[in-house]
Amino acid sequence: MGANILDGKRIAADIRAQVKADVASRSAHGLRPPGLAVVLVGEHPASQVYVRNKRKACAEVGFHSALHALPDSTSQAQLLALVDQLNADDTIDGILVQLPLPEQIDAEAVIERILPTKDVDGFHPYNVGRLALRMPQLRPCTPKGVMTLLERTGQQLEGLDAVVIGQSNIVGRPMALELLAARCTITVCHSRTKDLADKARAADVLVVAMGRARHVPGDWIKPGALVIDVGMNRDEQGKLCGDVDFATAVERAGWITPVPGGVGPMTIASLLQNTLQANALRTDNAGG
Ligand code: NAP
Repeated sequence: MGANILDGKRIAADIRAQVKADVASRSAHGLRPPGLAVVLVGEHPASQVYVRNKRKACAEVGFHSALHALPDSTSQAQLLALVDQLNADDTIDGILVQLPLPEQIDAEAVIERILPTKDVDGFHPYNVGRLALRMPQLRPCTPKGVMTLLERTGQQLEGLDAVVIGQSNIVGRPMALELLAARCTITVCHSRTKDLADKARAADVLVVAMGRARHVPGDWIKPGALVIDVGMNRDEQGKLCGDVDFATAVERAGWITPVPGGVGPMTIASLLQNTLQANALRTDNAGG
């Protein structure tokens, strides 16, 4: 018996269609389209692909998007000056600085410089803090996308034992905060965790974000569990794969995300939702 497959591609397409309809309806009321500024520093090949996909998604839903491509040699002061300029630009609702940044730049300082109301990635300490205090505003995109996937299963999350493998600032930590806000009992694991397999086996909800190709085998999965694989890796053959061994995990899980086509498309869908939310916050507050 196989798990139900959580089709992130289809669910993300539903969300994009909803965002597009909302943009059209706001524009019918004379409101300007949401504007996203995308800042890319250097020529990191994966970042170029991510940025292209994000801008394409923006265009499809009717957002205005502006690309600021800066050379690898950009200084921290130059990048901060650009962020200041975008913070002050009334046509821009969201600012996305694609990570990673070159080593001469302190990524935390750049994230903190973005106005929290324009922080559509949801990485600013203000937005992570709001999530921690159960009053979320702009929520980190990948964990938000995972919560949308979990909601679409129709399963009650309250009281479930949730295990998150990975504690990064952009995925694992905010993921744990999301699941706690949904009233799961959470365990967060990382590279120093003892008996990882036993912890995974106790999970009703298992979210894996470690960046290790097929590290989690099927026999770590509790029968019937909701399994979300955030990982995006290349295996020895160069094939895209997750952190979970899908072929064996699908035999035990109740629900599981594939890679590709699971969490990846949801991250972009959440970015669009956040940018629309940031636009609504600004235009509604400004009285139209
Ligand atoms: P990261 O910053 O490298 O964090 C990886 C986390 O996994 C760390 O907390 C690390 O523990 C933990 N870890 C690594 N090896 C481990 C092991 N053997 N046992 C237990 N824990 C282990 O990565 P990230 O940015 O969170 O990304 C994780 C994965 O998700 C990557 O494959 C990335 O490409 C993918 N990703 C996908 C999306 C998407 O939209 N689908 C978005 C973001 C990231 P320590 O903290 O102790 O080092």
